[in-house]
Amino acid sequence: MQAQSTSSRISPRRLAALASVTALTLAALPSAGNGHLSPYTSAPGAGPSALAPASSHGPCMISSAREVQMSEGIPTGAGYVRSTGTVRALTLLVDFSDAPGEGDALDRYREFFPQTQEWFRTSSYGRLDYRPELPIPDWLRMPKSFRDYGIERGAPFAPDYRELVRDLVAEADPKVDFGAYDLVNVLVTPNAGPSALDTVLSVTFAGNTEAPTADGVPVANASFVYSRQDDGSGSLDRTGYRVLPHENGHVFGLPDLYTAEGGSAAGHWDIMSEDWGANNDLLGWHKWKLGWLDAPQVHCAAGTGTREYTLTPLAESGGPKLVFLPLDTGSGYAVEFRTRAGNDEAVCRPGILVYKVDADVDTGMGPVTVYDSRRDSGGCTRSPNVHAELSDATFTPGETFVDRKAGIRVEVLEPTTPNTNSASDTGSDSASDTGSDSAFDTGSGSGPGSDSKTPEYRVRITRG
Ligand SMILES: [Zn+2]
Repeated sequence: MQAQSTSSRISPRRLAALASVTALTLAALPSAGNGHLSPYTSAPGAGPSALAPASSHGPCMISSAREVQMSEGIPTGAGYVRSTGTVRALTLLVDFSDAPGEGDALDRYREFFPQTQEWFRTSSYGRLDYRPELPIPDWLRMPKSFRDYGIERGAPFAPDYRELVRDLVAEADPKVDFGAYDLVNVLVTPNAGPSALDTVLSVTFAGNTEAPTADGVPVANASFVYSRQDDGSGSLDRTGYRVLPHENGHVFGLPDLYTAEGGSAAGHWDIMSEDWGANNDLLGWHKWKLGWLDAPQVHCAAGTGTREYTLTPLAESGGPKLVFLPLDTGSGYAVEFRTRAGNDEAVCRPGILVYKVDADVDTGMGPVTVYDSRRDSGGCTRSPNVHAELSDATFTPGETFVDRKAGIRVEVLEPTTPNTNSASDTGSDSASDTGSDSAFDTGSGSGPGSDSKTPEYRVRITRG
C-alpha cells in the first residue's frame, strides 16, 4: 500500500541460484507500489526541464499511460533528486552493537569516494556536480542491534526499516541539518548482514513521500549500501564502489534494467542493468532523461522517409549522441554509438547500439531491451560479471537493424574521421535543425593538443 518507489539489487550468485525458481525470484524483487508519480507535474526534479512537450522533441518524450513505479518516460516524475548542477549527498556511516564498525570509519567512506563523484562527473559530461559530505566522520551507532532491525532483502517498506530510518535521523539530527542535502547515502558497516554474493541488501528509497521527516523535510531519497561487491576476481578496489552510482541512479528516477533473468535484457550497457564487474556508463536515453544532453544532441526521428544522422561516441563530450524513433506515445527505439571510453571500459565491439525503451514497463520488468546484432554468438567478452551474449550486440558498418512490422530500418554507414584540429574543442556546438546532420566536434575529453581521431558514425534511418 505504499506509494513510494524503491528498488534493490541482485547479485550474480543469487541470480544463478534463483534462475530456475521463478516464483521465488519474483518474490525477491521489490514489489510494486501503487505509484504516486505524476509524469506531468512541473515540480523540480530530475531531467531535461527545459524541454516542453510541444517542442520538436515532443513525439520522443514518451510517457506511461498507466501507473508504474519507476518509468522510463520523459520528463521524470516529481519527487526525485535534481540530476544537474550541484547535488549535495549527505553520507552517514552506520554500525550496530552486534556489528561494530571495524577500523577507521573513513575507510568505508573511501570505498565509494571520490570514485562515485568522478563516475557522475564523467557520465554527465560535467553537468552533475556531485558533492559527498560527511558531517559525522565516524561510525554512527544505531540504538538497536542489526539483528533486531530485521533488515531483509527487498523489504524496505517493512516497519523495521522505517524504524531504522527514524533511529538514524534521531541519532544524526543533533549534528546534521537534513534540510541542507539533496539525497542521503547510508553506508552500513560491511560486517553487518550477509555477503553481497549471497544476498544483496543494498536498496534505495526514491521519491518516497511517506518517509520519516528530519528538520522538516522527508528523507525521501536515500540509498543504503551493505556488504561489499566482492566476487573474488580481484577487482573490488576498482569496481566495488559501483553499487553506489547504481543506487543513486534510483534517486534520480532511473529504474532497474535487470530482470528476474539478470542482465539479459540490457546487458552491460547501463549501470542500472549491471553494476558488478568492469565499469560501464548509462544509456543515451538515460543521459537525456537526466538532462545531460542538450536538445540538439538528440534527434527525434518521428516522421517517415529516409534521413542520415551522425553520431559521436556516447562516452565523449559534445556532438550528437542519440536518435530516437517513437513507435507510439509510450515506446520507441533508441540508437547510439558506443565505444570503449570514459566509464565504458568493457566495450569489446564498438558500434551502434539499438534498443527499445518502453515507458509502460516497470522497474525490474525489462523497460529497456537491447537488440543483439549477433544472436547466440556468446559475445566478445570474458570479463567477469559482464553479460557476455549482449557484449557484441552493436551493429557495425554494413549491418542493418530491421523492424519490418514497424517499417523501420537502421543502416550503419562507413564511419568518417573528424578534423583533428577540432579535438581540443570540447564545446557543445548546436545545430538549429535537430533533424539535420551537423559538423560536431567530437571533443574527446583528453584536452587541448589531443590528436584523438575517434570516428563519427553515420546511420541511415528509413521509416515507412
Ligand atoms: Zn537497483
